[in-house]
Amino acid sequence: MVEHQLKARGIKDERVLAAMETVQRHLFVDERLRDRAYDDCAHSIGEGQTISQPYMVAVMTELLELKGDEKVLEIGTGSGYQGAVLSILASEVFTVERLRPLALKVQVLYRELGYSNIHVITGDGTLGLPGQAPFDGIIVTAAAPRVPDVLTDQLKTGGRLVIPVGSRYSQVLYQVKKTASGISTALSTGCVFVPLIGKNGWQDNS
Ligand code: SAH
Repeated sequence: MVEHQLKARGIKDERVLAAMETVQRHLFVDERLRDRAYDDCAHSIGEGQTISQPYMVAVMTELLELKGDEKVLEIGTGSGYQGAVLSILASEVFTVERLRPLALKVQVLYRELGYSNIHVITGDGTLGLPGQAPFDGIIVTAAAPRVPDVLTDQLKTGGRLVIPVGSRYSQVLYQVKKTASGISTALSTGCVFVPLIGKNGWQDNS
């Protein structure tokens, strides 16, 4: 996976490559999908949600530009795989999931696997996590109609927000940086995520 899907497509950050070499992706999918866990695609994780394609996890993680001492917020816990990768690359990770069954499952899994610097919270991640802000990095792993101001507000100066923005069915990955002089946005690759449902996202699932 790391050689053929990540390095071959231009992922360069050695720490990201090493983290994705370390995290056992097959532990984050259903047993019946275990032998396909490292395939070059997203998989269903139940509740109508997906574990993202490995390449997309790598691209998004690289855009966070983590060095190791950061406090990071993930919105959209899903399978917990992206969060596990982040927990190796940052000092503290908070991950928010709106669907309680997924959040509970991941909480148990992290405890079993010994990931102790990652905290799973059930709730609407489009509100951010004001009690823990500001963050060095925020990663949204569901598709947003626009960049929520509340999330850029919860970034430190110098912080990065990585978020897919577009329609419900196709998006572009944005890297939004907060600098002393304001907000700058760089566009990365096209992508397809499940919708971000919440106050500052899409309003419902219909
Ligand atoms: N990062 C995940 C993939 C996430 S799929 C992984 O590594 O597996 C997107 C997830 O975002 C879904 O689980 C969905 O329920 C969740 N989601 C959608 N809207 C949300 C919101 N407002 N707050 C928190 N989670 C949300």
